[in-house]
Amino acid sequence: MFDELNEMPECRICYDGEKLNDSLISPCKCKGTSKYIHMSCLSTWRHSNIDGDAYNKCMECNQEYIIRKLYNDELRYLFTNNFTKLYTVLYCLTWVNALSIWSIETTDNYLLIKTLNNNNQNNILHDSTLYNITLNNNNTLVGNGLLTLIKYDGLSPLLFYFSFSMFMECLLFNMYFILKTCLKIYRKKYYFNRIKKRYFLSVVYSFQFIIWYYLLVFKTPFFFICLIFTMSIFGPYMISQLLKKHEVIILFMNEENDNRGEFILSFEENNIELENNIELENINNL
Ligand SMILES: [Zn+2]
Ligand SMILES: [Zn+2]
Repeated sequence: MFDELNEMPECRICYDGEKLNDSLISPCKCKGTSKYIHMSCLSTWRHSNIDGDAYNKCMECNQEYIIRKLYNDELRYLFTNNFTKLYTVLYCLTWVNALSIWSIETTDNYLLIKTLNNNNQNNILHDSTLYNITLNNNNTLVGNGLLTLIKYDGLSPLLFYFSFSMFMECLLFNMYFILKTCLKIYRKKYYFNRIKKRYFLSVVYSFQFIIWYYLLVFKTPFFFICLIFTMSIFGPYMISQLLKKHEVIILFMNEENDNRGEFILSFEENNIELENNIELENINNL
């Protein structure tokens, strides 16, 4: 009877024999018809009991499975998993930075805005007290009133420097994110294939400040400030979405992607010595 079973081993769950790419293993001390199980059948069974005892051991013979991982566990939390804390820190940091940059700007005669403008348009007079209008060298009207708004409006500088500060923060975050994942993730190809779309979206979103600046600021500066401020408010949300996507991918890589990341050794092959010892003990007892 036993010899017959040994000749034609079958899976204790699906009663099928050995399959191509899905070998039969004997992961525990069970004998007879319960001895063999497909790697995939065992994986399905274990994952239907992911929080229970059956995940780690055979419930019949109580033998713990010998689990080997092909890869180390990937880093699940890059920063924090507490998003309320993340939002609070990001918004507070942005306001502190915004106010700091604004106060520096008033002392260095708005170097930041001048730098931004010099790349695109030269010779802008900054002393006009008129809203939305400044004069260029030829004394013709151009629609650049950003500096006027920043200098003489109460709300505009707050919104503008908040947006700029958020732009810098998101940019730094994206750089830090790519650096940290490059250094910490082991299965890079698999990981980056899955994160790349969300990451690209996050980078594009963070660059909106610059894109809208050169598209709008010389025509409708106040509209630009309102638009970019609205966009900036969602900066931390974009960051949290990227972190959430990261977590989902890592969770899959660490736990659910069983066939790639994890395999279980046959109990017998790894415990020949142990079994021999038991047999010797039994003989001695006889
Ligand atoms: Zn099976
Ligand atoms: Zn067992």
